[in-house]
Parts: sequence; structure tokens; C-alpha cells
Amino acid sequence: MTLINKLTLLQNNVSSCTKCDLHKNKTNYVFSRGNPSSKIMIVGEGPGHDEDIAGKPFVGLSGKLLDKALVEAGLNPETDVYVCNIVKCRPPGNRKPTQDESDSCIDYLEEQINIIEPQVILTLGNTATENLINTTFGVTKIHGKSFKRRNSKVIPAYHPSFILRNGGSNSQQYQEFLADIKTAISLVTG
Ligand code: URA
Repeated sequence: MTLINKLTLLQNNVSSCTKCDLHKNKTNYVFSRGNPSSKIMIVGEGPGHDEDIAGKPFVGLSGKLLDKALVEAGLNPETDVYVCNIVKCRPPGNRKPTQDESDSCIDYLEEQINIIEPQVILTLGNTATENLINTTFGVTKIHGKSFKRRNSKVIPAYHPSFILRNGGSNSQQYQEFLADIKTAISLVTG
């Protein structure tokens, strides 16, 4: 089966998921955007309002900041990265997903990772980081460091919404975010 067929099958499974209660209030399941053949996967927390409406991850203000940083780092957000989230349905009021909700959804992300086989996974914020690597430290401590996870390297980075709360693209945090994206790029081989 081709990569696209495998992902389509998986997306079809997600689109009828009732494993947790988040599906009850969502408008759309939010599966991914970007290029499935990319060597870099970006994982966020979960859809917000704009993503829930669009059915695509990171299309709101956080997404705009993410794309700006990707472009500044030399990447095309459409063709050079694959973007997805820990949970595929919007938590009401943009709250953090509970651990039960993340646990219910994580197998879908595991399958996305198995199919795409990214060399590098950039985890945005604590929820994405904690659900993919075993750490007790928050991203403020460990962002930009490389963690081995099966066949991929995980680079934790700030969540764009955290950067927006701290001054956006004029902030020190944005510069650190940019540096972490460049670290991710530098780890890609071939
Ligand atoms: N925040 C996330 O973590 N994911 C999105 O898709 C949008 C905002």
C-alpha cells in the first residue's frame, strides 16, 4: 500500500472516532497538513477554534507564527513539513487535553509516525513533548535538545501560542524557537 493510501485509511478511521468525548463538541476532525513525505514532522497539542472550523492544524494565529518561523528558517510550510497534533478534536474552550483524552488519541499519532517515518519530530509545547518523550522537564528547560525516540529524533520547542503571549515575533522566545527549528533542520540527513 502506498504512503498516501495508508494515511487515507488512517484518516478514515479517525473520522469516525468516538474513543473519547472530544468528538461530541467538535466541528471537524483535524488530521494533518503539509507533506507526508517530509522528513520533519511537527506535533502540536490539539485543534483550536480556527482549526476546528477548517479541519486543518495550525491555521489560526499560532499557525501563522509557526509558518513565519518556518519560512524564516528556510522551509516551505506546505512542502517541507508534515504538521499534526496529539489530539484530533478540539478540546472545548481550547483547554489542554486531559491525559485520558491524549491517551485515547495517541495511537493515531503513533500510526502517523510509523507511516511517515520522520527523521525529526519537532514537539510544540509541553503536551506534545510529554506525550512523545519521557521527561519531567518542561520545554523552557529542554527546548532545542535532541531526544531519541525509536527511529526519530525529537526536538522540543515552545508552543507558538506561548510565544504570542510573550511578545510574538519580536520576542527572545521567537528567536529561540527559530534556533530550535534550525536545529531540527540540521539533524535531517540525506
Ligand atoms: N494549537 C495547537 O496545538 N494545534 C493546532 O493545530 C492549533 C493550535
